Amino acid sequence: MLRLLFPAVFALVLGSQAAEEKPVLFSPVSEEPEWRLLDPGQGLLTRQEFENRLRRTFDPAGALRPYLIWDEEGVTLFRDKARTRPLYRLTQASEQKPKEPPVPVLCGGDSARPLAGKVICLDPGHIGGDWADVEERTFRIGNDPPVVEGELNLRTCRLLAPLLEMAGAKVVWTHDGFVPTTPLRPADLYPEAITYLLQGSRGARLPRYSANGLIRWNAELLFYRSAEIQARARRVNEELRPDLTLCIHYNAAPWPGGRMRLTSANRLVIFAHGSYTAEELAFDDQKFRLLRKLLEDSTPMELGIGESIGKQFQERWGFRPENYEGSGYAHASGAGPYVWHRNLIANRMFDGPVVFVEGPYMNDRAIYPWIQAGEYEGTRVFAGQRRGNIYREYAEQVASGVIGYFRSRTQSSGAFTNYPP
Ligand SMILES: [Zn+2]
Repeated sequence: MLRLLFPAVFALVLGSQAAEEKPVLFSPVSEEPEWRLLDPGQGLLTRQEFENRLRRTFDPAGALRPYLIWDEEGVTLFRDKARTRPLYRLTQASEQKPKEPPVPVLCGGDSARPLAGKVICLDPGHIGGDWADVEERTFRIGNDPPVVEGELNLRTCRLLAPLLEMAGAKVVWTHDGFVPTTPLRPADLYPEAITYLLQGSRGARLPRYSANGLIRWNAELLFYRSAEIQARARRVNEELRPDLTLCIHYNAAPWPGGRMRLTSANRLVIFAHGSYTAEELAFDDQKFRLLRKLLEDSTPMELGIGESIGKQFQERWGFRPENYEGSGYAHASGAGPYVWHRNLIANRMFDGPVVFVEGPYMNDRAIYPWIQAGEYEGTRVFAGQRRGNIYREYAEQVASGVIGYFRSRTQSSGAFTNYPP
């Protein structure tokens, strides 16, 4: 349908792609991979270590294998499965190379301030404010005040920050308000939205919209998902350079029967990066980020902190963990029942360890009244349980999980290493 409506644009897009070898990017606002950023990983890993990380974390299904050729010295990554167009060459460490001894611990750490010297970045999910409708992260039931996820996330992060600071952390933010980080706006992204549609958009809800509506919807999607998260990633990777980023969200279940009414979905999940799909790995920028994350080796910290937060969830809230078995886009990490590997735009684009926490379901019938009760003092009873306000309880559990993880590390070894620049 769109091809008939926009034949000139379609020809233009195809023509320019054929003329020169352009990177194949996941979305039209993606940045081209800077392959040289992988160079510090040269000679770092043996083939065995590389393949273990792929299998356990990033590519359990083996979808990257058709793009790789191994030889005695290392591995070449190709754009295509025919393996004719090389993208990057990585040399492997020799099997005989003695492992470097761990960095000696000069001071035992401060057990009262276990986060001393750590920079922790808070990323309250979504934008909220005037953008909540565009992001499709808000709903309203009857005459109740609307529930806006971006605002719940920010409120929770504002309670979380002082708890981390009291434990010694320096807290920095991807954004702290209801203003987009990207200077782009949906209207700036109409040409990219058309390109996106012609590529075969991954937006699944096409038939509901007219052609104009479809372009607008895709421009909005590119704005709040791709452009906004990339702008945050630039801030994290180039200015803030934290030791850890925490992405804080509340979840939403599909509306039962498409009607806006409360449902039963009281589960929790924490994501560590990984679990790329075959569809994603067809793109150059996804291959690049996989390699960057694999060489960076943030996985142990993501799993350790995720597991520690999961323990808090289990003890204090006791909500069931989410189960993505058989989903094809997430796999169990083994770090407790709550932590799954998943390739999300934020945990893919941000350098360094990223722990992505999906809090309670906003449209669950037990959680909704708790959210509506706001930031009250003391405790009230919800679903038979005496509870502090939901924002404080959520923040306290995340803080306790993070602090508990670092405290156990200072007590055991103190050998904390930052990810390479
Ligand atoms: Zn969210």
